[in-house]
Amino acid sequence: MTDKPLGLSRRHLLAGLAATPALAAAAPAAAQTAGPSWTPQQAKDALKDAKGTKLVLLGTAAGPVPGRSRQMTSHVMLSDGAAYVLDCGMGVTDNYARTGIPFKALKSIFITHHHADHNIEYGPLLIVGWIQGVQNGVQAFGPPPLKQMTDDFMRAYKQTVDFWAEDFHMTPLTKVEVKEISAAGPVTQDDKVKVSAILVEHPPVKPALAYRFDFKDRSIAFSGDTAPLHAVAEMAKGADVLVHETMYVPAVEKYIKGQIALGRPVKFEAFMDHMKADHTPSEDVGRIAQEAGVKTLVLSHLTPAIDSITDEVWRAPVAKYFKGEIIVGKDLMVV
Ligand SMILES: [Zn+2]
Ligand SMILES: [Zn+2]
Repeated sequence: MTDKPLGLSRRHLLAGLAATPALAAAAPAAAQTAGPSWTPQQAKDALKDAKGTKLVLLGTAAGPVPGRSRQMTSHVMLSDGAAYVLDCGMGVTDNYARTGIPFKALKSIFITHHHADHNIEYGPLLIVGWIQGVQNGVQAFGPPPLKQMTDDFMRAYKQTVDFWAEDFHMTPLTKVEVKEISAAGPVTQDDKVKVSAILVEHPPVKPALAYRFDFKDRSIAFSGDTAPLHAVAEMAKGADVLVHETMYVPAVEKYIKGQIALGRPVKFEAFMDHMKADHTPSEDVGRIAQEAGVKTLVLSHLTPAIDSITDEVWRAPVAKYFKGEIIVGKDLMVV
């Protein structure tokens, strides 16, 4: 890992990722049979028959890129009737609704870091969620300035909330209980779950968090966005499930070479150095999961989120190092 300037701005990088759907459009249809998503009915059926705590992947794509078949990053965990959302990329509200989990069940929201593919729909989830049943007192946890962001958003939408409250005789959403997390350690605890966080490596975003949820029957850990870190393996030690961000380097390289051929003014090495300073290649995801000794590894925050990359291609480099169960994340998949 390196702290030297890489000669490539975040803006360039994001502009680059924004062009990714063009590759998906060129992909042969036959390669897409595995599909990027479960149907809402599959998710509902899996939750209906579920015993114990369940994780639903609501969005499994990396980057703030609209228009793809996978949504930006978000998840919901359902335990004993209570719902806990982790990250709020665009699509979180729709896909939450598609699971059939009542909005009234939403107890807490956790944000890993302040990139748009993880937080852009935080405010809309609160407001639309409130219209659909989210209660005053809903909790939110994440890096600073989450308190300021929440206050500003609620102020911006006060009139909207008040109109709706007046019309439908509802109590306006005024109380979102925010706790900012800027260090490793315990985050919160209730009668169903104990939540802790660690700091991860995702320059220049500081702090960026990974979380672990210890439910009574199941432990679920999330890497967040990070370069490969032993600390993530330590945090996830013995967990039932590790959801880890996954970058398939050959496809990223192919993509950026294509962009350079089209005249994009970036240097190949600088671009790849930047990606490697911020994200975890597939092989390292396998190493980390093996070191952690988790039962199930979920590959998510897929980089690049191109439908033509088959499940087997995602799985193979990880399986060289990890001997447990490997799941290639799909939107609405219940784990
Ligand atoms: Zn991300
Ligand atoms: Zn990020």
